[in-house]
Amino acid sequence: MADAGTNVTLCGWLQRSRDLGGMTFLDLRDKYGITQVVFNMESNAALCTQARALGREFVLQITGTVAERSNKNPKMLTGDVEITAQSITVLNESKIPPFTIEDETDGGEELRMKYRYLDLRRNIVSKNLRLRHKMAQQTRVYLDGEGFTEIETPVLIKSTPEGARDFVVPSRMNQGEFYALPQSPQTFKQLLMVAGMERYYQMVKCFRDEDLRADRQPEFTQIDCEMSFVRQEDVLNMFEGLAKHLFKSVLNIEMNEFPRMTFDEAMRLYGNDKPDLRFEMKFTELNSIVKGCGFKVFDDAELIIGITAPGCAEYTRKQLDELTEFVKRPQIGASGLVYAKYQQDGHIKSTVDKFYTPEQLKVWAETMNAKPGDLILILAGEKNKIRKALSELRLEMGTRLGLRDRNKYIALWVTDFPLVEWNEEGKRWHAMHHPFTSPKPEDVPLLDKDPGAVRANAYDMVINGVEIGGGSIRIHNKELQGKMFEVLGFTKEQAQSQFGFLMNAFEYGAPPHGGVAFGFDRWCAMFGGSDSIRDYIAFPKNNSGRDVMIDAPSDISEEQLKELGIRIVQPE
Ligand code: ASP
Repeated sequence: MADAGTNVTLCGWLQRSRDLGGMTFLDLRDKYGITQVVFNMESNAALCTQARALGREFVLQITGTVAERSNKNPKMLTGDVEITAQSITVLNESKIPPFTIEDETDGGEELRMKYRYLDLRRNIVSKNLRLRHKMAQQTRVYLDGEGFTEIETPVLIKSTPEGARDFVVPSRMNQGEFYALPQSPQTFKQLLMVAGMERYYQMVKCFRDEDLRADRQPEFTQIDCEMSFVRQEDVLNMFEGLAKHLFKSVLNIEMNEFPRMTFDEAMRLYGNDKPDLRFEMKFTELNSIVKGCGFKVFDDAELIIGITAPGCAEYTRKQLDELTEFVKRPQIGASGLVYAKYQQDGHIKSTVDKFYTPEQLKVWAETMNAKPGDLILILAGEKNKIRKALSELRLEMGTRLGLRDRNKYIALWVTDFPLVEWNEEGKRWHAMHHPFTSPKPEDVPLLDKDPGAVRANAYDMVINGVEIGGGSIRIHNKELQGKMFEVLGFTKEQAQSQFGFLMNAFEYGAPPHGGVAFGFDRWCAMFGGSDSIRDYIAFPKNNSGRDVMIDAPSDISEEQLKELGIRIVQPE
């Protein structure tokens, strides 16, 4: 033991103490972990008595000698050694904390968020911030090595109607006018390409005023990147490189080449534009073999698709009812579930035996690659709805069968997204990615006739069924950008007043360019093995968008309102 016998001084917080009569042990916590400090009644009664009087979370400076522990604790970073104390200085006292500051705590979420600075003292939480730091640092190492320049873009910008809802900030100096906080630095990074920066990145806060879902925060961080003189393939290779670098440097995992899958293929085979490829269970289309046999549900359906759940033929009635209930939940929206058990004896038993002969059911099984012991699950209905529903069922089966192992990572690129999608509510086309995304050149003639059929040079990086990042090759030509706005229902004037600054810039030698942005919080959560991005943000907001520690948002004074020229009108 190299350190044994050395004299040391440690500073930290008292996590807990144990009093065993002749001996007192203190667990002293600092950023490296926990060190056990020993006091002996026999050798130093005064010091031991002093130690016994200390409370939880007192801030201490302890001097002593390092000794090897007789009962080593491999769970602790500093678990091999202990300190025999010679003196204690109390640097500060502490009130009794509102919850136990240990890995296992009795504090509920709300309380821990109110006292987030105490929650962060727990190693189980602070280690997430250290992981985040490491990922940020390694991102910079990689991008710097590839010749990228980190450039800051403004936070007070202009509100635009595309995308999510903006957070706005009233301007005092220009009363009645508002800034918006950026949903992303998209237009600025494109202008940096026009400016000749060629390779830009930024670890940047973005703001979106959306209703919060479990894994969303109103402010979040992106690794935002843009490159000039690139084709889609160059961007994919560059950022596949970034992902591989992070896997290697942070998790010590060598990733294989990321497969590419078109949006159409992803939807056809997995019903999802972010398929979880940790397991197979691909969709099989059954229209041609199940229609026309008198089973109305299938006969009337636009699409009939199924998956084969390996080894599930033994599922009980109760388990199958659960699956039926699962797909009928309003969020999933299927009207029912047809299943067929391929029994070990070779017999296939289905819920629709009335309509199909055993031979026909064998054909189903063959088409679906099912083997004795497998369970066939089939949904029917309107194409998009039913694909989405079967995708949920597939993921549910993956979870039930333990096929979604957190320690296994499968990444892919999904490419060729549609350029626009129809918005029924607004009765107009919406950009699927954003309005600056370039259509595939060969699809440009379709822009007038059939915008819905136009494919974009847009791509997402997906890891384990989670969209980690996405981007596109951009439009860099004023006419085409104008055409795009026209398809999206902007008048010429609207396009000019909202995005004139970008379109005008395109008239001064804009290089071809493209890029990508990654959801950094989500990526950290994934590497940390968690579903919650909140655990990887030092001071996150709760589900209602509140910071309960500082109590924001909050009222502002009459005087501030007056200065801003804002009058609050109470809703009736
Ligand atoms: N700005 C885009 C986003 O926030 C990403 C990109 O196209 O680079 O999704």
